[in-house]
Amino acid sequence: MSERFDAVDVIIAKRDGRRIPDDQIDWMIDAYTRGVVAQEQMSALLMAILLNGMEPGELARWTAAMINSGQRLDLSGLSRPTSDKHSTGGVGDKITLPLAPLVAACGAAVPQLSGRGLGHTGGTLDKLESIPGWRASITTEEFLAQLESVGAVVCAAGAELAPADRKLYALRDVTGTVESIPLIASSIMSKKIAEGSASLVLDVKVGTGAFMKTTQRARELARTMVELGSAHGVRTVALLTDMSTPLGRTAGNALEVEESLEVLAGGGPPDVIELTVALAREMLAGVSDDDPADALRDGRAMDVWNAMITAQGGDPRAPLPRARERQTVDAESTGVLTRLDAYAVGVAAWRLGAGRARQEDPVSAGAGVVILARPGDAVVKGQPILELHADDPQRFERAIQALDGGVDIGPAAAQAPSLIIDRIGD
Ligand code: URA
Repeated sequence: MSERFDAVDVIIAKRDGRRIPDDQIDWMIDAYTRGVVAQEQMSALLMAILLNGMEPGELARWTAAMINSGQRLDLSGLSRPTSDKHSTGGVGDKITLPLAPLVAACGAAVPQLSGRGLGHTGGTLDKLESIPGWRASITTEEFLAQLESVGAVVCAAGAELAPADRKLYALRDVTGTVESIPLIASSIMSKKIAEGSASLVLDVKVGTGAFMKTTQRARELARTMVELGSAHGVRTVALLTDMSTPLGRTAGNALEVEESLEVLAGGGPPDVIELTVALAREMLAGVSDDDPADALRDGRAMDVWNAMITAQGGDPRAPLPRARERQTVDAESTGVLTRLDAYAVGVAAWRLGAGRARQEDPVSAGAGVVILARPGDAVVKGQPILELHADDPQRFERAIQALDGGVDIGPAAAQAPSLIIDRIGD
């Protein structure tokens, strides 16, 4: 079959800083997904986009073409309004675990198609898979039935959801084109829009442990994604939140499930509670007058959690896996912990076995880091500040190396940054 356009013309247009015409965008994404546009041609186009950017209308069309490469779920038949959350990824970011059942307990349906972790940030599916029996893969029929009956589903995205993104993301990974705001925004939003939720709250992380290291870049990404969501009829709001220090007191799969259970039982670390409740309020705006803080305190969110885990084959009462070995990291001086770097802790947890270097690698359910002292806490020389968990004790040395330079102890506490930095959207 002869093709309507030539990839070289599309590449040259973007190379020279011009807007790609709509019909050429549609063709390029479709032909690439079909395997007609070669990897080297798409690589050249991605680099041209990274260097020259995209106009808002051009990016909206590019995102629409990515959505149209697969299926867009129709959730309009559900009896409850739908609302989802996406985080750009951080260290100790277990918020989806308490948040999804919490929002469902307050009356919305949460359809979360999720991914596995890569690199120093953990993936929600990896965390949930530490629960004995829990299955990430379910059919579309099971997904819809669970959304209706339980109100919350967190599961693996199927191959039919934005297949263009799968190919593009893998190519960006090996061509130095991940860090482009239009490419990140279209990648995230094509999947989230295809998922079919009527409303979406984005948690855009800022800081050493995040994709976006500066507030300015995070704000630009958030604005771009909010505009894309709105252009596709999805009510979208973004919170910019701090990721210079890990969230809560754990980074690791089963360790983060355990901490989420504390939050669902009405306890848990203050920062995890604050962010969970703030995101829940955004997801429930215009949907429910219930206060999510009440649903954590009175056990309604925990009831939905138990139903959500059971529906996917998990045993919510089974003991969680624990790593075989532990080692502490102790304070080198007496004073106040002034900095605990999110990236350093994330890499340490990864090296302990909690994360993977390649998509196909297994993860250790019990491995990770328990944070015994947080910024602002007074510490005494020799006092344990972190506890490292691993199945294989040989992993401790490289994890400790990752923490080198990531912990500061000073004479007085520095002003802690606010957890919620900004809100973008209507
Ligand atoms: N997450 C995605 O899904 N895509 C990106 O490009 C970056 C983060």
